[in-house]
Amino acid sequence: AQPDRKLLVRGTESRTLNAFDSVSEEAAVTVPSQARRRIAIIGSGFSGLCLGIKLKEAGIHDFTIYEKEDRVGGTWRDNSYPGAACDLPSMAYCFSFEQKTDWSRKWSPQPEIQEYMEHCARKYGLLPHVRFRTEIASAAFDESAGVWRLATASGEQIEAEVLVCAVGQLNRPYVPEIPGLESFAGECFHSARWNHAYDLGGKRVAVIGNAASAIQFIPEIAREVGRLSVFQRSANWLLPRNDRSYSEREKWLFANVPGLAKLYRWWIWLSFEIRFPAFLGNRFIAEQTRRFAEQYIRDVVPDPKMRAALVPDYPVGGKRILISDDYYQALVRPNVELETSGIDHVESDGIVTQDGVKHACDALVFATGFESTRFLAPMRITGRGGRSLDDDWREGARAYRGITVSGYPNLFLMYGPNTNLGHNSIIFMIECQTGYILQAIRTLIDRDLAFLDVKPEVQQAFDTQTQRELSRTVWARTPHSWYKTESGRITNNWSGTTTRYWWGTRRFDVESYASVARAAISARPAGERNAADAA
Ligand code: NAP
Repeated sequence: AQPDRKLLVRGTESRTLNAFDSVSEEAAVTVPSQARRRIAIIGSGFSGLCLGIKLKEAGIHDFTIYEKEDRVGGTWRDNSYPGAACDLPSMAYCFSFEQKTDWSRKWSPQPEIQEYMEHCARKYGLLPHVRFRTEIASAAFDESAGVWRLATASGEQIEAEVLVCAVGQLNRPYVPEIPGLESFAGECFHSARWNHAYDLGGKRVAVIGNAASAIQFIPEIAREVGRLSVFQRSANWLLPRNDRSYSEREKWLFANVPGLAKLYRWWIWLSFEIRFPAFLGNRFIAEQTRRFAEQYIRDVVPDPKMRAALVPDYPVGGKRILISDDYYQALVRPNVELETSGIDHVESDGIVTQDGVKHACDALVFATGFESTRFLAPMRITGRGGRSLDDDWREGARAYRGITVSGYPNLFLMYGPNTNLGHNSIIFMIECQTGYILQAIRTLIDRDLAFLDVKPEVQQAFDTQTQRELSRTVWARTPHSWYKTESGRITNNWSGTTTRYWWGTRRFDVESYASVARAAISARPAGERNAADAA
C-alpha cells in the first residue's frame, strides 16, 4: 500500500482506498451506476473545493481531488509570508453559501483564510475525496474510450471521464533570470515559498519586486531586519487600506441579525462592481484615484526624490491597484532604502545595480510574482487527434468563457484564461464557473453523453470579442503586467463586469458544444476501475 493513499478517513477508521473507491458507496445510493462519471479535479484551492462541495450537493460523488501538497488551500496555503492578507474585504472573501461572520479584521489575514478553507473541506465532507501528495503530470484524452488518461508525477495511471483543472493562475512562482544569481551564497527564497525557519532578524535583506505580495511583507520584516533594500523596477498605484479589527459586537451582529452578513457582502460586491468603468479608462474615476493616491504619497513620504519614484508611469488600474496602510511608512524607515536603479547582476554577497553600486545582503527575497500566463504548465495536456495545449496556446492561452477548450472534450478549467479581475472577487467568478461545470456534467449524465467539446467557431467568436473588448481597457495601455504575455496578448483578465460573466455562465449552453453519445463509442463501463487502481 502506498502511504499517500492512506489519507481517506471515515469515522474513526483509516483505510487505504483506490482513487475512486472513496466515493463508490455514496455514488451507489444516489446515482445509478450506468450514469456515473468519474471526475478528476486537479487542485484543492477555492476552485477545487467549491466544485467538490457543489458536486456532492448535486448527489454526484464520483470525484477525486488531486492535490500535490499535503493540505488544501491552494495559493492561500502557499503564500504564508508575514503579513499575507486578502485585498478584498473579508466579508466578501468566502463562499456565498458558507458565509463566515467572525473574521478578525476587515481584510482577512492568510491564516484565517487557510483555516476557513480547511473548515469548508471538513464541513462538506471533502477530505475523503482528496488525494494529497499526488501531482498530475499529464493528461491525454482517449477518444475511442471517451476517457482522460492521467499520469501522476510518480508514474501512476488514472482514468476519468471528466477532467477539471482547478490550478488557478498564481501557483508557480516566477524567479527572473538574473546573471550571477546561482553564485549568491546567502539565503534566497520566493515570497510564495517563504522560509519560516530562516531568521531575518538583524540581517541585511534585499527584496526584488514591490507589488501586491511585497508590500504586505515589507512592513512586517522592516521592523526586524538590520537593513532592507527594496528593488523597484516600476512603481505601483497604491491606496490606503484602512484596515481595522472587527469588534465582538460587530461579529455578534453579523452572526445573529438575519441577512446582515449577506447584505454587507452584496454591498461590498456592488461597490466594487460599479468601479469597473475605471478599467475602461473612465477619466473621472481614474483622475480621482490618481489624485488621491498621489496625495497619500505626499502625506507619508517627505523626501521629494522618493515621492517622485513612487508615482507610476502607467494608467491607474493598468496593474493591480495595491492597498496598504504601512508600505510607504515602512519605506521611510531609517533602515530601509528604495532602490530604483535596475539590477545588473548578483554576486555571492549582494546585488550590483546598473549604476555600479553594490548592495551587500545576507538574504534575497523574490517577490517577483508568478508564471501567470502559462496556465496549466508544466502539465502536458493532449486532446483529440494528439493535439497539445502547449501548441494550441503557443500564442497565448484561450478558452470559451475561460472554462472549455475546443479539441479537449470534457476538460473544464477553473480560474482559467481571461477570468481574472482587477476590480472584484475571484470567488464570485469561481462560483459562476462551478455552476456552469456542474450543469455540463449533469448534461453528460442526463443525456447519456460520452463527451462534450466546445465548437471551434464558438470559442473563436468568444475569444475575438473578449480580445476586442480588452483592447479598450487600461490593461492594453500598460506596457507589461502579469495579465499579459510578452507579445502583449491579455490572457488573464476578463473583459467585463462580474455581472456579465455571471449572465454568460448562468446556463450551460449545450448548443455551443459538439456532443458524442456514449452508445457511439466503445467505452468501458464507467464504474470500472483501471489497472492501476485495482492493483
Ligand atoms: P506581481 O504583481 O507579478 O509583481 C511582481 C513584482 O516583481 C513587480 O514589482 C515586478 O516589477 C517585479 N519584477 C518581476 N520581475 C522582475 C525583474 N526581473 N527585476 C525586477 N523586478 C521584477 O506579483 P505579486 O506581488 O506576487 O502579486 C501577484 C498577484 O497575486 C497580485 O496581483 C494579486 O492578484 C495576487 N495577490 C493578492 C494578494 C492579496 O489578496 N492580498 C496578495 C498578494 C498577491 P514590474 O512591475 O516592473 O513588472
